[in-house]
Amino acid sequence: MIKRSFFTLSQPMLNYDLVEPDPKELESIPIPPNLILLLNEPIDSTRPPLIKKGAAVEKGEKLCLYNDSTEYTISPVTGTLTFIDTYSDDFGNTSTYLVIKNDQGQTTKTDSAIYDLKDDIASADQYLRTLPGAPPLKLLAKDDVKINTIVITCADTDLLSTTNQYVTLKFLDEVKQGAKVLKRITHVPNLCITIPEGLNIKEEFDSIKVFKTALKYPSNLPAIILKDHLNMILPAGKKPEDIGVCFISAEAVVSLGRAYKTKSADFEKILTVIGKQGTRYRVKATIGTPLHKIFKAFSILVNDQDRIIIGGPMMGFSTYTHLHPVQPDMDIVMIQGRDILPEISDYPCVNCGNCLRICPANVPVNILVRYLEADLYEEADDKYDLSSCIECGLCAYVCTAKIPLFQYIRLGKHELLKLRAEV
Ligand code: SF4
Ligand code: SF4
Repeated sequence: MIKRSFFTLSQPMLNYDLVEPDPKELESIPIPPNLILLLNEPIDSTRPPLIKKGAAVEKGEKLCLYNDSTEYTISPVTGTLTFIDTYSDDFGNTSTYLVIKNDQGQTTKTDSAIYDLKDDIASADQYLRTLPGAPPLKLLAKDDVKINTIVITCADTDLLSTTNQYVTLKFLDEVKQGAKVLKRITHVPNLCITIPEGLNIKEEFDSIKVFKTALKYPSNLPAIILKDHLNMILPAGKKPEDIGVCFISAEAVVSLGRAYKTKSADFEKILTVIGKQGTRYRVKATIGTPLHKIFKAFSILVNDQDRIIIGGPMMGFSTYTHLHPVQPDMDIVMIQGRDILPEISDYPCVNCGNCLRICPANVPVNILVRYLEADLYEEADDKYDLSSCIECGLCAYVCTAKIPLFQYIRLGKHELLKLRAEV
Protein backbone atom coordinates (compact mmCIF):
# COMPACT_ATOMS: atom_id res chain seq x y z
CA MET A 1 0.00 0.00 0.00
CA ILE A 2 1.49 3.34 -1.00
CA LYS A 3 0.96 5.76 1.83
CA ARG A 4 1.33 8.89 -0.23
CA SER A 5 -1.16 11.38 -1.50
CA PHE A 6 -2.06 11.25 -5.21
CA PHE A 7 -2.42 15.01 -5.31
CA THR A 8 0.52 16.92 -6.59
CA LEU A 9 1.39 19.98 -8.60
CA SER A 10 -1.13 19.05 -11.25
CA GLN A 11 -4.12 19.05 -8.96
CA PRO A 12 -7.37 18.18 -10.66
CA MET A 13 -10.29 20.61 -10.90
CA LEU A 14 -13.18 19.84 -8.62
CA ASN A 15 -15.76 19.99 -11.37
CA TYR A 16 -16.45 17.01 -13.57
CA ASP A 17 -15.40 17.43 -17.16
CA LEU A 18 -18.07 17.35 -19.84
CA VAL A 19 -17.45 15.33 -22.95
CA GLU A 20 -16.97 17.49 -26.06
CA PRO A 21 -20.24 18.09 -27.99
CA ASP A 22 -18.92 16.26 -31.04
CA PRO A 23 -16.23 13.89 -29.78
CA LYS A 24 -13.70 12.32 -32.12
CA GLU A 25 -13.89 8.65 -32.95
CA LEU A 26 -12.16 6.37 -30.48
CA GLU A 27 -8.53 5.48 -31.03
CA SER A 28 -8.44 1.73 -31.50
CA ILE A 29 -5.62 -0.20 -29.81
CA PRO A 30 -4.57 -3.32 -31.77
CA ILE A 31 -5.31 -6.65 -30.09
CA PRO A 32 -2.00 -7.55 -28.42
CA PRO A 33 -0.13 -10.86 -28.93
CA ASN A 34 -0.70 -11.74 -25.25
CA LEU A 35 -3.69 -10.83 -23.12
CA ILE A 36 -3.84 -10.88 -19.35
CA LEU A 37 -7.00 -11.84 -17.50
CA LEU A 38 -7.68 -11.66 -13.78
CA LEU A 39 -9.94 -14.30 -12.34
CA ASN A 40 -11.47 -13.42 -8.99
CA GLU A 41 -10.65 -16.72 -7.29
CA PRO A 42 -7.27 -17.84 -5.92
CA ILE A 43 -5.65 -21.10 -7.01
CA ASP A 44 -6.09 -23.86 -4.45
CA SER A 45 -2.79 -25.75 -4.51
CA THR A 46 -4.50 -28.90 -3.20
CA ARG A 47 -6.78 -29.26 -6.24
CA PRO A 48 -5.94 -29.61 -9.92
CA PRO A 49 -7.49 -26.69 -11.84
CA LEU A 50 -9.75 -27.25 -14.86
CA ILE A 51 -7.69 -24.82 -16.93
CA LYS A 52 -4.05 -25.64 -17.49
CA LYS A 53 -1.04 -24.10 -19.18
CA GLY A 54 -0.98 -25.08 -22.87
CA ALA A 55 -4.76 -25.43 -23.17
CA ALA A 56 -6.47 -24.05 -26.27
CA VAL A 57 -9.19 -21.47 -25.59
CA GLU A 58 -11.89 -20.07 -27.83
CA LYS A 59 -13.05 -16.49 -28.09
CA GLY A 60 -15.97 -16.15 -25.70
CA GLU A 61 -15.11 -19.31 -23.76
CA LYS A 62 -15.93 -19.26 -20.09
CA LEU A 63 -12.89 -20.06 -17.93
CA CYS A 64 -13.24 -21.22 -14.32
CA LEU A 65 -10.76 -22.88 -11.99
CA TYR A 66 -12.88 -25.70 -10.59
CA ASN A 67 -16.16 -27.47 -11.23
CA ASP A 68 -17.74 -25.80 -8.22
CA SER A 69 -16.31 -22.30 -8.93
CA THR A 70 -18.79 -19.47 -8.97
CA GLU A 71 -16.24 -17.00 -10.36
CA TYR A 72 -15.23 -16.98 -14.01
CA THR A 73 -13.67 -14.94 -16.75
CA ILE A 74 -14.22 -15.05 -20.49
CA SER A 75 -11.48 -15.30 -23.08
CA PRO A 76 -11.56 -12.29 -25.45
CA VAL A 77 -9.61 -14.13 -28.16
CA THR A 78 -9.01 -17.55 -29.61
CA GLY A 79 -5.60 -18.67 -28.42
CA THR A 80 -3.53 -20.66 -25.96
CA LEU A 81 -3.27 -20.36 -22.21
CA THR A 82 0.44 -19.83 -21.64
CA PHE A 83 0.64 -18.84 -17.99
CA ILE A 84 -1.43 -19.24 -14.84
CA ASP A 85 -0.40 -18.01 -11.41
CA THR A 86 -1.57 -16.29 -8.26
CA TYR A 87 -1.94 -12.51 -8.22
CA SER A 88 -2.01 -10.34 -5.09
CA ASP A 89 -3.40 -6.82 -4.99
CA ASP A 90 -2.30 -3.92 -2.75
CA PHE A 91 -4.32 -5.25 0.16
CA GLY A 92 -3.03 -8.80 -0.18
CA ASN A 93 -6.26 -10.15 -1.73
CA THR A 94 -5.41 -13.00 -4.04
CA SER A 95 -6.87 -13.87 -7.40
CA THR A 96 -5.58 -15.73 -10.45
CA TYR A 97 -3.63 -14.27 -13.32
CA LEU A 98 -3.99 -15.87 -16.76
CA VAL A 99 -2.01 -15.08 -19.89
CA ILE A 100 -3.59 -15.99 -23.21
CA LYS A 101 -1.53 -15.99 -26.38
CA ASN A 102 -3.63 -14.51 -29.12
CA ASP A 103 -3.75 -16.91 -32.08
CA GLN A 104 -6.37 -14.95 -34.02
CA GLY A 105 -4.07 -12.03 -34.96
CA GLN A 106 -5.68 -8.64 -35.44
CA THR A 107 -9.08 -9.74 -36.60
CA THR A 108 -12.05 -8.92 -34.40
CA LYS A 109 -14.22 -10.97 -36.72
CA THR A 110 -13.34 -14.35 -35.24
CA ASP A 111 -16.63 -15.87 -34.16
CA SER A 112 -17.25 -15.60 -30.48
CA ALA A 113 -18.99 -18.39 -28.57
CA ILE A 114 -22.78 -18.24 -28.84
CA TYR A 115 -24.52 -18.31 -25.48
CA ASP A 116 -27.86 -19.81 -24.65
CA LEU A 117 -29.15 -16.55 -23.17
CA LYS A 118 -32.60 -16.60 -21.67
CA ASP A 119 -34.64 -13.67 -20.50
CA ASP A 120 -33.72 -14.05 -16.87
CA ILE A 121 -30.97 -12.65 -14.68
CA ALA A 122 -29.49 -16.05 -13.78
CA SER A 123 -28.85 -16.77 -17.45
CA ALA A 124 -27.21 -13.36 -17.99
CA ASP A 125 -25.10 -13.87 -14.88
CA GLN A 126 -23.84 -17.17 -16.23
CA TYR A 127 -22.06 -15.56 -19.20
CA LEU A 128 -22.03 -11.77 -19.12
CA ARG A 129 -20.33 -10.56 -15.91
CA THR A 130 -17.16 -9.54 -17.71
CA LEU A 131 -18.74 -7.45 -20.46
CA PRO A 132 -17.30 -3.95 -20.96
CA GLY A 133 -18.59 -1.85 -18.07
CA ALA A 134 -18.84 -4.93 -15.78
CA PRO A 135 -22.61 -5.14 -15.34
CA PRO A 136 -23.41 -6.06 -11.69
CA LEU A 137 -25.18 -9.27 -12.72
CA LYS A 138 -23.83 -11.29 -9.82
CA LEU A 139 -25.44 -8.83 -7.43
CA LEU A 140 -28.70 -8.67 -9.37
CA ALA A 141 -28.89 -12.48 -9.47
CA LYS A 142 -28.50 -12.93 -5.71
CA ASP A 143 -31.57 -14.43 -4.09
CA ASP A 144 -30.99 -12.69 -0.79
CA VAL A 145 -30.67 -9.18 -2.25
CA LYS A 146 -33.88 -7.36 -3.15
CA ILE A 147 -33.32 -4.58 -5.65
CA ASN A 148 -36.21 -2.14 -6.30
CA THR A 149 -34.36 0.53 -8.22
CA ILE A 150 -31.61 0.42 -10.82
CA VAL A 151 -29.72 3.62 -11.57
CA ILE A 152 -28.00 3.78 -14.97
CA THR A 153 -25.04 6.15 -14.69
CA CYS A 154 -24.24 8.19 -17.76
CA ALA A 155 -22.35 10.60 -15.52
CA ASP A 156 -18.79 9.50 -14.74
CA THR A 157 -18.02 9.07 -11.06
CA ASP A 158 -14.44 10.36 -10.90
CA LEU A 159 -12.96 13.58 -12.23
CA LEU A 160 -11.33 13.69 -15.68
CA SER A 161 -13.18 10.61 -16.92
CA THR A 162 -15.65 11.10 -19.76
CA THR A 163 -16.06 7.44 -20.69
CA ASN A 164 -19.71 6.99 -19.79
CA GLN A 165 -20.72 10.39 -21.14
CA TYR A 166 -19.05 9.47 -24.42
CA VAL A 167 -20.94 6.15 -24.53
CA THR A 168 -24.22 7.96 -23.85
CA LEU A 169 -23.63 10.59 -26.50
CA LYS A 170 -22.49 8.16 -29.18
CA PHE A 171 -24.71 5.17 -28.44
CA LEU A 172 -27.85 6.69 -26.96
CA ASP A 173 -30.20 4.34 -28.82
CA GLU A 174 -28.21 1.38 -27.55
CA VAL A 175 -28.40 2.71 -23.99
CA LYS A 176 -32.19 2.70 -24.39
CA GLN A 177 -32.20 -0.78 -25.91
CA GLY A 178 -29.94 -2.09 -23.17
CA ALA A 179 -32.20 -0.53 -20.53
CA LYS A 180 -35.15 -2.46 -22.00
CA VAL A 181 -33.15 -5.70 -21.78
CA LEU A 182 -32.18 -4.88 -18.20
CA LYS A 183 -35.81 -4.32 -17.26
CA ARG A 184 -36.91 -7.50 -19.03
CA ILE A 185 -34.36 -9.78 -17.37
CA THR A 186 -34.44 -8.26 -13.86
CA HIS A 187 -38.11 -7.21 -13.48
CA VAL A 188 -36.87 -4.38 -11.28
CA PRO A 189 -39.77 -1.91 -11.15
CA ASN A 190 -37.87 1.41 -11.11
CA LEU A 191 -35.24 2.38 -13.64
CA CYS A 192 -33.53 5.76 -13.36
CA ILE A 193 -30.73 7.35 -15.35
CA THR A 194 -28.20 10.02 -14.36
CA ILE A 195 -27.32 12.63 -16.99
CA PRO A 196 -24.79 15.36 -16.22
CA GLU A 197 -26.12 18.90 -16.48
CA GLY A 198 -24.95 20.33 -19.78
CA LEU A 199 -24.62 17.02 -21.64
CA ASN A 200 -26.22 17.70 -24.96
CA ILE A 201 -28.63 14.83 -25.48
CA LYS A 202 -32.36 14.46 -25.94
CA GLU A 203 -33.68 13.22 -22.65
CA GLU A 204 -36.54 11.02 -23.71
CA PHE A 205 -36.28 7.71 -21.94
CA ASP A 206 -39.84 6.37 -21.93
CA SER A 207 -40.54 5.17 -18.41
CA ILE A 208 -37.02 5.81 -17.12
CA LYS A 209 -36.74 8.65 -14.65
CA VAL A 210 -33.99 11.14 -15.51
CA PHE A 211 -31.77 12.63 -12.79
CA LYS A 212 -29.72 15.65 -13.82
CA THR A 213 -26.51 15.56 -11.84
CA ALA A 214 -24.53 18.69 -10.99
CA LEU A 215 -21.02 19.15 -12.37
CA LYS A 216 -19.58 19.72 -8.92
CA TYR A 217 -17.65 16.76 -7.52
CA PRO A 218 -18.79 14.40 -5.89
CA SER A 219 -22.38 14.71 -7.26
CA ASN A 220 -22.09 11.46 -9.20
CA LEU A 221 -21.09 9.19 -6.34
CA PRO A 222 -23.76 6.64 -5.44
CA ALA A 223 -24.26 7.94 -1.88
CA ILE A 224 -24.82 11.47 -3.19
CA ILE A 225 -27.20 10.35 -5.94
CA LEU A 226 -29.19 8.42 -3.35
CA LYS A 227 -29.43 11.52 -1.18
CA ASP A 228 -29.99 14.17 -3.84
CA HIS A 229 -32.29 12.30 -6.21
CA LEU A 230 -33.82 9.35 -4.39
CA ASN A 231 -34.15 10.98 -1.00
CA MET A 232 -32.40 8.06 0.66
CA ILE A 233 -29.56 8.18 3.15
CA LEU A 234 -26.99 5.42 2.86
CA PRO A 235 -26.47 4.13 6.41
CA ALA A 236 -22.87 3.90 7.66
CA GLY A 237 -21.11 0.77 6.48
CA LYS A 238 -23.91 -0.15 4.05
CA LYS A 239 -23.90 -0.45 0.30
CA PRO A 240 -26.63 0.85 -2.04
CA GLU A 241 -27.88 -2.71 -2.56
CA ASP A 242 -28.54 -2.99 1.18
CA ILE A 243 -31.25 -0.38 0.71
CA GLY A 244 -32.54 -1.83 -2.56
CA VAL A 245 -30.62 0.21 -5.14
CA CYS A 246 -28.18 -1.02 -7.76
CA PHE A 247 -25.95 1.19 -9.94
CA ILE A 248 -24.88 0.19 -13.46
CA SER A 249 -22.80 2.18 -15.94
CA ALA A 250 -24.09 3.32 -19.34
CA GLU A 251 -21.37 1.24 -20.99
CA ALA A 252 -22.50 -1.90 -19.15
CA VAL A 253 -26.08 -1.30 -20.28
CA VAL A 254 -24.97 -0.93 -23.91
CA SER A 255 -22.87 -4.12 -23.66
CA LEU A 256 -25.81 -6.01 -22.19
CA GLY A 257 -28.12 -4.91 -24.99
CA ARG A 258 -25.56 -5.94 -27.62
CA ALA A 259 -24.98 -9.32 -25.95
CA TYR A 260 -28.69 -10.10 -26.00
CA LYS A 261 -28.90 -9.08 -29.63
CA THR A 262 -25.96 -11.19 -30.82
CA LYS A 263 -26.09 -13.89 -28.08
CA SER A 264 -22.38 -13.36 -27.62
CA ALA A 265 -20.00 -11.14 -25.67
CA ASP A 266 -18.27 -7.94 -26.71
CA PHE A 267 -14.69 -7.38 -25.48
CA GLU A 268 -13.84 -3.84 -26.50
CA LYS A 269 -13.60 -1.58 -23.50
CA ILE A 270 -13.80 2.18 -23.85
CA LEU A 271 -11.56 4.14 -21.52
CA THR A 272 -10.23 7.62 -20.92
CA VAL A 273 -6.44 7.85 -20.72
CA ILE A 274 -4.77 10.93 -19.19
CA GLY A 275 -1.12 11.40 -20.15
CA LYS A 276 1.60 12.99 -18.02
CA GLN A 277 0.90 16.48 -19.35
CA GLY A 278 -2.84 16.08 -18.81
CA THR A 279 -3.62 15.26 -22.44
CA ARG A 280 -6.78 13.21 -22.74
CA TYR A 281 -7.09 10.25 -25.11
CA ARG A 282 -10.23 8.18 -25.55
CA VAL A 283 -9.51 4.64 -26.60
CA LYS A 284 -11.08 1.32 -27.41
CA ALA A 285 -8.98 -1.63 -26.25
CA THR A 286 -9.64 -5.34 -25.89
CA ILE A 287 -10.17 -6.43 -22.30
CA GLY A 288 -6.89 -8.02 -21.17
CA THR A 289 -4.67 -5.59 -23.10
CA PRO A 290 -1.63 -4.70 -20.93
CA LEU A 291 -1.63 -0.96 -20.22
CA HIS A 292 1.86 -0.47 -21.66
CA LYS A 293 0.39 -1.24 -25.12
CA ILE A 294 -1.92 1.75 -24.73
CA PHE A 295 0.86 4.02 -23.49
CA LYS A 296 3.03 2.98 -26.41
CA ALA A 297 0.26 3.78 -28.90
CA PHE A 298 0.35 7.42 -27.69
CA SER A 299 4.13 7.56 -27.16
CA ILE A 300 3.65 7.97 -23.42
CA LEU A 301 6.94 6.96 -21.87
CA VAL A 302 6.49 5.33 -18.48
CA ASN A 303 9.67 5.65 -16.44
CA ASP A 304 10.65 3.96 -13.21
CA GLN A 305 8.80 5.61 -10.32
CA ASP A 306 6.15 7.21 -12.51
CA ARG A 307 2.76 6.41 -11.14
CA ILE A 308 -0.06 4.68 -13.00
CA ILE A 309 -3.42 5.45 -11.43
CA ILE A 310 -6.44 3.35 -12.27
CA GLY A 311 -9.85 4.78 -11.56
CA GLY A 312 -9.29 8.54 -11.56
CA PRO A 313 -7.52 11.19 -9.51
CA MET A 314 -9.90 11.25 -6.55
CA MET A 315 -10.83 7.61 -6.04
CA GLY A 316 -8.25 5.71 -8.05
CA PHE A 317 -5.53 3.35 -6.88
CA SER A 318 -1.99 3.10 -8.14
CA THR A 319 -0.63 -0.02 -9.75
CA TYR A 320 3.02 -0.97 -9.63
CA THR A 321 3.14 -2.52 -13.06
CA HIS A 322 2.46 -1.33 -16.59
CA LEU A 323 1.51 -4.95 -17.34
CA HIS A 324 -1.75 -4.35 -15.51
CA PRO A 325 -4.49 -5.28 -17.95
CA VAL A 326 -7.54 -3.37 -19.17
CA GLN A 327 -10.35 -4.59 -16.95
CA PRO A 328 -14.11 -4.63 -17.65
CA ASP A 329 -14.75 -1.86 -15.08
CA MET A 330 -11.74 0.33 -15.92
CA ASP A 331 -13.05 3.72 -17.09
CA ILE A 332 -9.95 5.86 -16.64
CA VAL A 333 -6.19 5.44 -16.38
CA MET A 334 -3.81 8.30 -15.70
CA ILE A 335 -0.05 8.64 -15.47
CA GLN A 336 1.80 10.94 -13.12
CA GLY A 337 5.44 11.60 -13.92
CA ARG A 338 7.94 10.87 -11.15
CA ASP A 339 9.15 14.50 -11.24
CA ILE A 340 5.82 15.80 -9.94
CA LEU A 341 5.16 13.15 -7.31
CA PRO A 342 5.21 14.53 -3.77
CA GLU A 343 7.81 13.42 -1.28
CA ILE A 344 6.51 10.93 1.22
CA SER A 345 4.91 13.12 3.85
CA ASP A 346 4.99 12.33 7.51
CA TYR A 347 4.06 15.84 8.62
CA PRO A 348 1.62 15.87 11.50
CA CYS A 349 -1.88 17.26 11.23
CA VAL A 350 -1.84 21.04 11.71
CA ASN A 351 -5.52 21.16 12.68
CA CYS A 352 -6.44 23.47 9.83
CA GLY A 353 -9.93 21.94 9.64
CA ASN A 354 -10.02 21.76 5.83
CA CYS A 355 -10.91 18.07 5.85
CA LEU A 356 -13.78 18.63 8.27
CA ARG A 357 -15.23 21.45 6.23
CA ILE A 358 -15.15 19.58 2.94
CA CYS A 359 -16.25 16.08 4.00
CA PRO A 360 -19.74 15.39 2.58
CA ALA A 361 -20.28 12.67 5.19
CA ASN A 362 -19.29 14.84 8.19
CA VAL A 363 -16.55 12.44 9.22
CA PRO A 364 -14.14 13.92 11.83
CA VAL A 365 -11.24 13.07 9.54
CA ASN A 366 -8.50 14.80 11.52
CA ILE A 367 -9.15 12.67 14.59
CA LEU A 368 -10.05 9.55 12.63
CA VAL A 369 -6.68 9.50 10.91
CA ARG A 370 -4.83 9.50 14.23
CA TYR A 371 -6.60 6.27 15.17
CA LEU A 372 -5.90 4.80 11.74
CA GLU A 373 -2.23 5.70 11.97
CA ALA A 374 -2.15 3.83 15.28
CA ASP A 375 -3.92 0.80 13.71
CA LEU A 376 -6.90 1.28 16.06
CA TYR A 377 -9.52 0.29 13.50
CA GLU A 378 -12.40 -0.70 15.79
CA GLU A 379 -12.08 2.54 17.74
CA ALA A 380 -11.82 4.49 14.48
CA ASP A 381 -15.13 3.04 13.44
CA ASP A 382 -17.00 3.10 16.73
CA LYS A 383 -16.01 6.60 17.75
CA TYR A 384 -14.96 8.41 14.59
CA ASP A 385 -17.25 7.15 11.81
CA LEU A 386 -14.81 5.25 9.61
CA SER A 387 -17.69 3.37 7.98
CA SER A 388 -19.57 6.60 7.19
CA CYS A 389 -16.88 7.65 4.71
CA ILE A 390 -18.22 7.52 1.13
CA GLU A 391 -14.68 7.41 -0.31
CA CYS A 392 -14.77 10.63 -2.29
CA GLY A 393 -11.11 11.49 -1.57
CA LEU A 394 -11.83 15.17 -0.93
CA CYS A 395 -10.17 15.21 2.49
CA ALA A 396 -6.85 14.08 1.02
CA TYR A 397 -7.20 16.67 -1.73
CA VAL A 398 -7.46 19.58 0.72
CA CYS A 399 -5.13 18.37 3.46
CA THR A 400 -2.64 21.10 4.33
CA ALA A 401 -0.18 18.59 5.77
CA LYS A 402 -0.53 16.38 2.66
CA ILE A 403 -1.41 13.41 4.82
CA PRO A 404 -2.63 10.60 2.55
CA LEU A 405 -5.93 10.53 4.38
CA PHE A 406 -7.84 8.63 1.74
CA GLN A 407 -5.30 5.84 1.57
CA TYR A 408 -5.38 5.53 5.36
CA ILE A 409 -9.17 5.35 5.28
CA ARG A 410 -9.25 2.66 2.61
CA LEU A 411 -6.64 0.60 4.36
CA GLY A 412 -8.53 1.10 7.63
CA LYS A 413 -11.79 -0.15 6.12
CA HIS A 414 -10.03 -3.17 4.68
CA GLU A 415 -8.34 -4.01 7.99
CA LEU A 416 -11.62 -3.56 9.84
CA LEU A 417 -13.36 -6.03 7.52
CA LYS A 418 -10.57 -8.53 8.11
CA LEU A 419 -10.73 -8.07 11.88
CA ARG A 420 -14.49 -8.57 11.92
CA ALA A 421 -14.26 -11.62 9.66
CA GLU A 422 -11.85 -13.23 12.14
CA VAL A 423 -14.21 -12.81 15.09
S1 SF4 B 1 -12.95 10.38 1.63
FE1 SF4 B 1 -12.61 11.91 3.22
S2 SF4 B 1 -13.91 13.66 2.61
FE2 SF4 B 1 -14.64 11.89 1.46
S3 SF4 B 1 -16.29 11.04 2.70
FE3 SF4 B 1 -14.41 9.97 3.28
S4 SF4 B 1 -13.63 11.07 5.02
FE4 SF4 B 1 -15.10 12.42 4.03
S1 SF4 C 1 -6.81 18.79 6.43
FE1 SF4 C 1 -5.02 17.59 7.09
S2 SF4 C 1 -3.85 19.04 8.36
FE2 SF4 C 1 -5.92 19.93 8.15
S3 SF4 C 1 -7.08 19.16 9.93
FE3 SF4 C 1 -7.43 17.70 8.28
S4 SF4 C 1 -5.85 16.12 8.59
FE4 SF4 C 1 -5.21 17.90 9.76
